Amino acid sequence: MEESQQRLRKAVSDVSQEINKYYSLEVERKFDDIEELEEAECQCCGMKEECSKVYMNEVEEDYCGKWVCGLCCEAVKDKVGRSTKVITLVEALKSQMDFSQEYNATIRLNPKLSLTLSMRDIAKRSLDKRNCKGLGITKLTRSSSYP
Ligand SMILES: [Zn+2]
Repeated sequence: MEESQQRLRKAVSDVSQEINKYYSLEVERKFDDIEELEEAECQCCGMKEECSKVYMNEVEEDYCGKWVCGLCCEAVKDKVGRSTKVITLVEALKSQMDFSQEYNATIRLNPKLSLTLSMRDIAKRSLDKRNCKGLGITKLTRSSSYP
């Protein structure tokens, strides 16, 4: 009896130690969260994102004082990396902005058209994929028309 009580006590203290461990982890995490969040607006696509000031400053430093969202960051990096001629970050940023403005002008203002365009894209892609199998997708894409 005595022994089992001791064992139980030990088990309880083990559990409470574990709980304390998790609790302190949780507290640390909360401290991270407390870091000031600010709403940043992407200079390219205009998307708004809540991010910490530290992160905001980092991005602005990297992108000539402009805050760009994660997606546009990737796109800009991609442009710089893939371009055959040497283009600067500023140029890549500028071209991403142009692209986004065009995107906003077509897709955001005209979702119906953009849906058609993306449907056409998907149809085209699946056509490319299936063309070799000869499943007659050509007919399908031809019959789809603009609204
Ligand atoms: Zn963006």
